[in-house]
Amino acid sequence: MLKHYTATLTEKNVLAPNVLQLWFDLVDDTLEFKSGQYILLEVGNGFRQYSIASSPQFNKKFELLIDTTPMGIGSQYLMNLALGDHIHFRAPLGVFVLHESNLPKLFLATGSGIAPMKSMLEFMHEMRSPQKRILLWGTRTFEQAYYTDIWKKLGRMKGFDYTFCLSKGDVRDHCSKGYIQDALNDIFLHNSPQSFEYYVCARPTIVESLKQYLAQKSVPESNIFHEKFT
Ligand SMILES: Cc1cc2nc3c(=O)[nH]c(=O)nc-3n(C[C@H](O)[C@H](O)[C@H](O)COP(=O)(O)OP(=O)(O)OC[C@H]3O[C@@H](n4cnc5c(N)ncnc54)[C@H](O)[C@@H]3O)c2cc1C
Repeated sequence: MLKHYTATLTEKNVLAPNVLQLWFDLVDDTLEFKSGQYILLEVGNGFRQYSIASSPQFNKKFELLIDTTPMGIGSQYLMNLALGDHIHFRAPLGVFVLHESNLPKLFLATGSGIAPMKSMLEFMHEMRSPQKRILLWGTRTFEQAYYTDIWKKLGRMKGFDYTFCLSKGDVRDHCSKGYIQDALNDIFLHNSPQSFEYYVCARPTIVESLKQYLAQKSVPESNIFHEKFT
């Protein structure tokens, strides 16, 4: 059920240029949600949607991951928020959530589209999910990637692997050169595209191009779940 909440900013970190990690404590309340869902944040006279980046195992605090590049009212509001400030929001919203199936899962994200996937992957890790899962995360350079300690920690668990798909710059461990589609081409050399379930989160044009690519590979639409960061 959609509820109104108040929360206090308790931690604010710059993870990369134009990328903020914000942690909030709920004020006299708990937030029940599913990994992948988002909040509707009051900003000035309007609202902005932000995915919850932390696992639902925490219900007294939660994390947001903000790309401030658009620099509109949402970005400016969150950039100017100081520790101890209150936010008001409604939650939980969204149908971009984990589905129960036995298919291995491929998580495809660019930029801050990683937010709902971090929540999903941490949750699966905490639940000791036996399902195979692979994250392909597109960023321009390695310097623009973050949460690297988290991916390393999750990567120690059997069944999870991750690759940063870098369109520019030098590659290193867990990196490949090119776009997400290039990394998928490599995976499909040894696996059938139809043998996976897909979770896609990015700006609308990228989501559409990935969906088109998967359609060309004859992946049924019912195996593709997506969230567009408009
Ligand atoms: C379901 C959902 C979940 C979302 N979750 C997140 C999240 O977890 N983290 C997050 O950072 N955002 C997320 N977004 C996007 C977020 O809601 C805002 O739309 C975004 O932050 C821009 O808000 P703004 O007020 O700063 O800019 P706006 O005032 O909305 O836009 C300012 C201008 O910038 C343009 N613009 C938009 N995006 C970009 C861009 N990437 N680069 C350059 N220009 C741009 C717009 O077209 C507009 O002209 C989500 C969106 C949806 C729909």
